[in-house]
Amino acid sequence: MKNTKTLIFYILTLITLVVIIFASAFIVLSKTLFKTSNASQTNTTNSSEKAVQMPITTLADAHSNLASNNDVPILMYHYIRNVNPTTDKLGYNLSVTPTNFENQLSWISEQGYKTITLNSYCSNPKLAPDKSIILSFDDGYRDAFNNALPILTKYNFIGTFFIIKSKIDRLNYLTSNQISQMTAAGMEFGSHTVTHPNLALAKIDKIKSELTESKQNSPVFAYPSGKYNQIALQLTKEAGYICAVTTNNGVAKSNSSLFELPRIRVSGNTTLETFKKSILTGKGL
Ligand SMILES: [Zn+2]
Repeated sequence: MKNTKTLIFYILTLITLVVIIFASAFIVLSKTLFKTSNASQTNTTNSSEKAVQMPITTLADAHSNLASNNDVPILMYHYIRNVNPTTDKLGYNLSVTPTNFENQLSWISEQGYKTITLNSYCSNPKLAPDKSIILSFDDGYRDAFNNALPILTKYNFIGTFFIIKSKIDRLNYLTSNQISQMTAAGMEFGSHTVTHPNLALAKIDKIKSELTESKQNSPVFAYPSGKYNQIALQLTKEAGYICAVTTNNGVAKSNSSLFELPRIRVSGNTTLETFKKSILTGKGL
């Protein structure tokens, strides 16, 4: 009887030990299995991330074949108005209709471009945010206030207006009051000289007075009719301007000469397709 009890005790102890050993083995084994499956899951995630990254890299490559991230298109406008192409051919070429202007700004906005001032661009071209664009307007015509400003503000955009000092308050040109209102609305005003002379032909003293007497709220300059030479360029620098735009075709690059910045001319006959292409390729028109 006693022997039987001892035997049962030994058997139970043995069973308990076997159960403990199997349980421990199971725990160790399941932990190893869990780690392996976790690792394989991480690998799967990595490879799926790689798969997702591929098209992005391809897109970036495609983008670098077009405009580079540091390229900044500087668009050049004159009049924003409706004009009859048959009775005023020159005026037509210099004019973009308010409808076309709005379509252009709408597309720029959809593409995610942000307008910046020429001053901020020239202060450090390499720091220009991706998808920056500058909208510039030459000569300071009155339709800048009547037609361009409402569309610019609708899209939360700003523009850079190059003013001919002697034309302020003249018929069809901006008034001082309109310039003040536009300045308050965040618009930038640069100089376009006092009398719009050809700076490539003007005498040094004349160039100097045209440059110094025409300064606006921003130290940026536009050569009248895009005409300049090395003397005019040097005098522009010496007069305290930080950069100057030309009428040379192209997109400003981070290594562009700050006193010979190219622009994209937008004319009366610029179609929306041509407009898009000139910005997307970074090559201008
Ligand atoms: Zn001009």
